[in-house]
Amino acid sequence: AKAQGSNSFCFFTQTMNNQARARLEIESELRHAQENRELELHFQPIVDARSGQIVAAEGLLRWNNPTLGRVSPDTFVPLAEDIGLILPIGDWVLRTACHTAMTWQQSGRTPVRVCVNASVRQFRNGNIVQTIASVLEESGLPAHCLEVEITEGLLLDDAPEIQEILNKLHRMGVRISIDDFGTGYSSLCYLKKFPFDVLKIDQSFVRDVINDPDDAALAAAIIHMAHQLKLEVVGEGVETTAQLHYLQDNGLDMVQGYLFSKPVTAEGFKRLLDQKKSH
Ligand code: C2E
Ligand code: CA
Ligand code: CA
Ligand code: CA
Repeated sequence: AKAQGSNSFCFFTQTMNNQARARLEIESELRHAQENRELELHFQPIVDARSGQIVAAEGLLRWNNPTLGRVSPDTFVPLAEDIGLILPIGDWVLRTACHTAMTWQQSGRTPVRVCVNASVRQFRNGNIVQTIASVLEESGLPAHCLEVEITEGLLLDDAPEIQEILNKLHRMGVRISIDDFGTGYSSLCYLKKFPFDVLKIDQSFVRDVINDPDDAALAAAIIHMAHQLKLEVVGEGVETTAQLHYLQDNGLDMVQGYLFSKPVTAEGFKRLLDQKKSH
């Protein structure tokens, strides 16, 4: 039993070492990702639930590294947050999103908003208000065409400080949305305390609206409540027409999901804007 115990201990530390080594490797590659131009911002359309018109684009980070290949943002974004890299990367995302959205507008297309995911770190250690002000100025993008997506984690503590930043952005005309709604420690008082314009229902609810009566009830209740609070509602992760119809019937304003399009490059998004809309 002793021998076995020490064997499994060896195996355990071996696994830990491998994990730690893998993490270190990703970390050191990530430190050079920006200067090596390995990061890209892709865009996923958000469409009006009734007309099917594209009304916005969510910017989503992509990282393609020569040795690691494609690394998912679910892996590298938390890492970038841990080591502080999310500050320069987040600035780059904001700048790229606003400049790209301007190039879409300049070609005479109907303006679409651009939505950018923001990390807690950018609100704590960064100077997100200043960054956004200068990015809007240098790109020429109107403030109401920029939307900042935050998650509930941001609202957990230091609320007065965060509230102040959100209020400033809101007064500048920037739209604020609450992302992944329903997955965190959702306290309903957040919804009246912070200046949100948009609520994004997490895809975990959307996935099962057809099969799970509880999720169907929750999705409908969230839409109804958000509307009472004068928020617009986006359904995330819509993959089937059955899901779309359920959400449409319950008054959803906007949809995002593979049913319409996966995230695409800036060029690809321009082509989507030029296509005839139909559904
Ligand atoms: P998120 O903000 O909730 O983004 C939506 C995610 O759902 C994206 O994953 C998108 O590709 C995926 N998605 C969209 N439609 C569907 C669908 O119909 N079905 C399914 N199964 N998935 C769908 P992605 O691009 O892998 O990003 C994952 C997460 O990484 C994001 O979740 C966000 O939290 C984070 N992230 C991505 N880009 C950035 C960024 O620029 N800054 C920060 N701070 N975080 C980012
Ligand atoms: Ca998001
Ligand atoms: Ca989300
Ligand atoms: Ca998510």
